[in-house]
Amino acid sequence: MKLHDLGEFGLIDRITAGIADNESVKIGIGDDAAALAPAEGQLSLVTSDMLVEGVHFDLVLSDPFTLGRKSLAVNLSDLAAMGAKPRYFLLSLAIPTALTVEFLDDFISGLMQRAEQFDVTLVGGDTCSSKGGLVISVTAMGEQFPHLVVRRSGAQPGDLLFVTGTLGDSALGLELLRGGERSGRGVERHLDPEPRVTAGTMLAESGVVTAMIDVSDGLLADLGHILRLSDVGARVELEKIPLSSFYRERISRFASDPLSLALGGGEDYELLFTAHPSNKDRVFALMAETGDQVSVIGEITPGGQLSLVRADGTEYQPVRRGYNHFA
Ligand code: ADP
Ligand code: MG
Repeated sequence: MKLHDLGEFGLIDRITAGIADNESVKIGIGDDAAALAPAEGQLSLVTSDMLVEGVHFDLVLSDPFTLGRKSLAVNLSDLAAMGAKPRYFLLSLAIPTALTVEFLDDFISGLMQRAEQFDVTLVGGDTCSSKGGLVISVTAMGEQFPHLVVRRSGAQPGDLLFVTGTLGDSALGLELLRGGERSGRGVERHLDPEPRVTAGTMLAESGVVTAMIDVSDGLLADLGHILRLSDVGARVELEKIPLSSFYRERISRFASDPLSLALGGGEDYELLFTAHPSNKDRVFALMAETGDQVSVIGEITPGGQLSLVRADGTEYQPVRRGYNHFA
């Protein structure tokens, strides 16, 4: 079937068919705006991420189902980084008229699979045609008690710096995808990232995390945001940066500096956070509960300097500082 035969409203019906009832959605899709009842005493946290064909994804490299999963996942990662429990999302699409209905069905299936996994409800959006590529914009909403929301600005000198998972796999996966590989850890992590939703909310609810951000633009760039907004510096011990065995094995073909993608590559969607050293065991116990790997990679220091230190104590100068759209 062609999009033309379905039309805008047929398409919206197709997207919104089978959305489960949600007690707190007082008015759902179909009216001019949705009405949501916030949980007693909690703040609404709202975030939006756009995925643009040719900039964020390539339809030759990613299948529609996985693209749907990723479109929601990257937004849930932002909510996780604030410690918010995800609740609702909006989906806006600018669709090239040549795109097939089958593509959209698969895209929506992938998106809805992630929505079910994290119990988030689609409550609206917008649909229009595109004269260029496919544009996907998702806005996600979450909730959390005000005193439990974790910001980028709370890091204190002396705090330890933690990161979940491993870094650099996604950026290396993108290089491998471009080189023709279609599977493997890095490719999967790039196309289908796992947002650290449970880890983010549990860390926030424990009350021990002082600052948090998700690593979407690379460790150095995202750590830079915490440092600037908290008005602190950091000392990072490079040998403590968590690298997967996949990354260790494959990086040498792509970069002479084995740390380049772990420090400067984007889209890991891991959580980078700080906590007082007295809470270190608590953090490790929580992450053992959620099943997320966690590492201490350094500490927060007074002053605004970021120093990256090798195992032998010498300073390291990175070549690449992270992803910047307009650089
Ligand atoms: P309006 O013209 O008043 O903006 P629309 O006709 O665009 O309304 O949308 C009708 C309903 O369908 C609204 O509830 C809107 O939120 C919903 N909707 C439109 N596009 C999407 C989409 N891509 N995904 C989910 N809901 C959508
Ligand atoms: Mg509209």
